[in-house]
Amino acid sequence: DATDATAQPSGWLAGLAETFEARRRDLNALDQRAGDGDIGTNLSSGLQAALLRSAGPDADLAADLSAVAGAFLDDVGGSSGPLFGLVFSAVADAVAGPDADDAGQADDAAAVVVGLRDGLEAVARVGGAAPGDRTLLDALAPATEGSRLDRHAVAAAIAGARATSDLVARRGRASYLGDRALGFPDPGAVAVAVVLAALLERLEG
Ligand code: ADP
Ligand code: MG
Ligand code: MG
Repeated sequence: DATDATAQPSGWLAGLAETFEARRRDLNALDQRAGDGDIGTNLSSGLQAALLRSAGPDADLAADLSAVAGAFLDDVGGSSGPLFGLVFSAVADAVAGPDADDAGQADDAAAVVVGLRDGLEAVARVGGAAPGDRTLLDALAPATEGSRLDRHAVAAAIAGARATSDLVARRGRASYLGDRALGFPDPGAVAVAVVLAALLERLEG
């Protein structure tokens, strides 16, 4: 029973939840500069909810990503719940799709990038932002330039997240407070880079 709270989640999902719990305060502090200081709590609580939906310790990547997507879309509020939910959902679909091959690391890495592109389009459509607006898209877009999720893609996401320090927000809550966050990165972009680094670990594991 995937909703049995006593069931073991996958180790990767548990690790991701731990990573975001450890970053909760820092992400909240970044969001506090120009927003309402809750993104770390939103993401961490979403991953705790995902653990309860985990298909178990042997769950494949698509199942883990679906658990996260469902939890974010159903249980997490704010902007990050639905927007990260869309991204996780798109990547889950791409990894589970007919072209996905569980045995081939290279194929999963390619499917992840296809999913990230779909997720980027969905977030841009729903949220109306484009790269350069100081949102999570500034980490997501550079990660989709290659054909696979590899260390170059993750490095591009990290660089994209860092570069949001120099951007003034044009979308989301942070856009109401002008340049108060200049010099600090957008927390949604930082969170995307953290997720992609964890995905790469899973693909290489
Ligand atoms: P809220 O502002 O509702 O409290 P969160 O704090 O959970 O939402 O998430 C804020 C993050 O969501 C921002 O750092 C930004 O990366 C992302 N974000 C906000 N609005 C948009 C949007 N329209 N498009 C893409 N990302 C967005
Ligand atoms: Mg917030
Ligand atoms: Mg909020």
